[in-house]
Amino acid sequence: MKKSIFLLFFFTLTIIQNVLSTPSLGLLLLREWKPASVVTEADINTYSLDSCFQILPISDAVFVRMRGKSYKKDCQIPLSDLRYLKLLHRNANGEPQLGEMVCNKRIASILVKIFRELYEAGYKIERMVLVDDYDAVDEKTMEANNTSAFNYRNVAGAKKLSKHSLGLAVDINPLYNPCYRLRSGKVEPISGKKYVHNRGKRKDIPYKIDHKDLCYKLFRSNGFVWGGDWRSVKDYQHFEYK
Ligand SMILES: [Zn+2]
Repeated sequence: MKKSIFLLFFFTLTIIQNVLSTPSLGLLLLREWKPASVVTEADINTYSLDSCFQILPISDAVFVRMRGKSYKKDCQIPLSDLRYLKLLHRNANGEPQLGEMVCNKRIASILVKIFRELYEAGYKIERMVLVDDYDAVDEKTMEANNTSAFNYRNVAGAKKLSKHSLGLAVDINPLYNPCYRLRSGKVEPISGKKYVHNRGKRKDIPYKIDHKDLCYKLFRSNGFVWGGDWRSVKDYQHFEYK
């Protein structure tokens, strides 16, 4: 009898120990770095905030996602010039969400610094996953309001390579900060049309980038130009490194 009580006690203790040492789902998501996952502040504290902002080489697993999509067959930029960033951002509800980005190694540490400042200031970015999740089709990733950098492609409607091809340009919350071609009247993405006109006075545009915006200020002070300052094309989502 005594032996069975002891065994029961031991068994219960083992279960309690296992439950206590099992990492939460959020912690597992952080360890595996599953982009677009929402996690809690407690999980981040356990994992460490520093680990949520990392610069890594392009791993085989990441390259499998990019190959034939953002990293096209004729891509001129060596993979060794690109970096994979783990970034944390605040989503539409202000919750911490896991993000990722591929960029040029020249701006990797600048981007980590900018996005960390944006995160700590509570700046909202709806989604930040690789464009490859949208087959690297610009219109699709913009419609999804996805923030991104590297994509080997021409400037839309032109034969010139875009700065995104070098991983030296970043598009932020693109649906609400569309690209507007003044001469043709074309807006990209198409659904962004309602966010183009009269932007200066409007208060009904979520994630609006203008000269008062923190995102604008951080990119400008770190050597980027803003597409919203251009004349013939107003590319409100676009920051490129000079
Ligand atoms: Zn852009």
